[in-house]
Amino acid sequence: MNQKLKVIQGKSWYEDGLNFKCTGCGKCCCGAPGYIWVTDEEIEKISEKLKLTRKEFHMKYLVQVGNRFSIKDLKNNNHSCVFLRDNKCSIYEERPKQCRTYPFWPSIMKSEKNWEEESSACEGIRPYHPKVSIEEIKSKLKS
Ligand code: SF4
Ligand code: SF4
Repeated sequence: MNQKLKVIQGKSWYEDGLNFKCTGCGKCCCGAPGYIWVTDEEIEKISEKLKLTRKEFHMKYLVQVGNRFSIKDLKNNNHSCVFLRDNKCSIYEERPKQCRTYPFWPSIMKSEKNWEEESSACEGIRPYHPKVSIEEIKSKLKS
């Protein structure tokens, strides 16, 4: 294989960046059952923000799944995350990594087709939105 071909093949399909801007519509925070994973460090930060002990926070807002923890969703309210209020995240500054990095998740970034399909769930993925650079995308993927 010649060097030029190797370089082309090594390029990501999103090399030129991707058009995305979160509109804050809140759709990714409800609508279907799922898990909103939180790490120990994130649990610490959110409990602090809410002025709750870790135990209180666990009892009120988390479910244990195996050895991990997920923020509860409200099954009787369109599976809305418990922290979604009036379509806005009430812990926005402390929201978990999973929320911070959406839609730049490895499963979505795997292919252009997956990215395009995700646009039906996320109105932030639109050609008229500004571009997010490949550097920023990569840092979200790595975080
Ligand atoms: S669905 Fe997309 S645009 Fe709407 S809040 Fe989530 S990330 Fe932002
Ligand atoms: S923590 Fe905030 S951003 Fe994450 S799902 Fe809940 S409401 Fe949405």
